[in-house]
Amino acid sequence: MRIDVITLFPEIIEFVSKLGVTGRALNKDIWQIKTWNPRDYTSDIHHTVDDRPYGGGPGMVMMAEPLKLALEAVREDRAKDTECEVPKVVYLSPSGVKFNQSLANSYASSSGFILICGRYEGVDQRFIDKYVDQQISIGDYVMSGGELPALVMIDCIVRLIPGVLNSSESHSMDSFQKSLDGLLDHPHYTRPEVFEGMEVPKILLSGNHKEIESWRLKESKRITALYRPDLISDE
Ligand code: SAM
Repeated sequence: MRIDVITLFPEIIEFVSKLGVTGRALNKDIWQIKTWNPRDYTSDIHHTVDDRPYGGGPGMVMMAEPLKLALEAVREDRAKDTECEVPKVVYLSPSGVKFNQSLANSYASSSGFILICGRYEGVDQRFIDKYVDQQISIGDYVMSGGELPALVMIDCIVRLIPGVLNSSESHSMDSFQKSLDGLLDHPHYTRPEVFEGMEVPKILLSGNHKEIESWRLKESKRITALYRPDLISDE
C-alpha cells in the first residue's frame, strides 16, 4: 500500500514512519508513505498557499492552484508505480463522513490513497468539487489542521494490512471488528494477580480456554451494553 499526503506540515506526518507498529511495517516495506508540500508548487517569492476569503470574514483559505499542482505531481509519481490502482483522493474535513472501523477496513484493502490536509479556514471549495472523491471527519470537533486526523486514519488503516501485526497483536479481536460482531473488546488483565486488593477474575487463571472464551464474549456484551448500547442491534 502506498499513501501520499499533501500537507503544509510534512514533519507531523513523518511521525508515523518512525515509531511503533507503523514504523516497523514501513521498515519491512509492507507500506510506503510520501509527503508533498503545496508550498513547493507555488511560483511567487513568498511561496503563498493561502489568501483571504471572498465575501470577507475571518481567517485565510488554502488556494486551489498549489493543491492541484501538488496532486498532479503525486499522480505523475504514482504512475511510475505500476502496481497502484487509481487512488481515492480524501480530504480530511469536519464536514466529512465520520471515520470508523468499517471505513478503515475498506481503505486497508485498497492499494493506497491520497490524503489532503487542510489548514486555516479550509480549502477552496472548487478544489474539493473537482478533485476530492471523499471527505472524512475524525469526529465532531474542529482541529487546527488535517495532519492529526490524517495520522489517525493512517494508523488505523495500516495496522489492518496483513502482516503488519504479528499474531499475538492480531486486530481480529479488537473492538468494532466484525469477528467480534462489532462489539467492544473485553477487559484485559496482566501480572500481578492482586493489584491494590483487586484480584484477576478467577476464570482467567483456570487454563480452561473454552470457558475463558465464553467469559470474554459475555464481558464484551456487558461492556458494549453499558458504554455503547447503540452498537447492539435489536434483531
Ligand atoms: N472552518 C472549518 C470548519 O469550521 O469546518 C475548520 C477548518 S480547520 C481549522 C482546518 C483544517 O483542519 C480543515 O480544513 C481540515 O483539514 C482539518 N480538520 C479540522 N477538524 C477536523 C476533523 N474533525 N476531521 C478531519 N479534519 C479536520
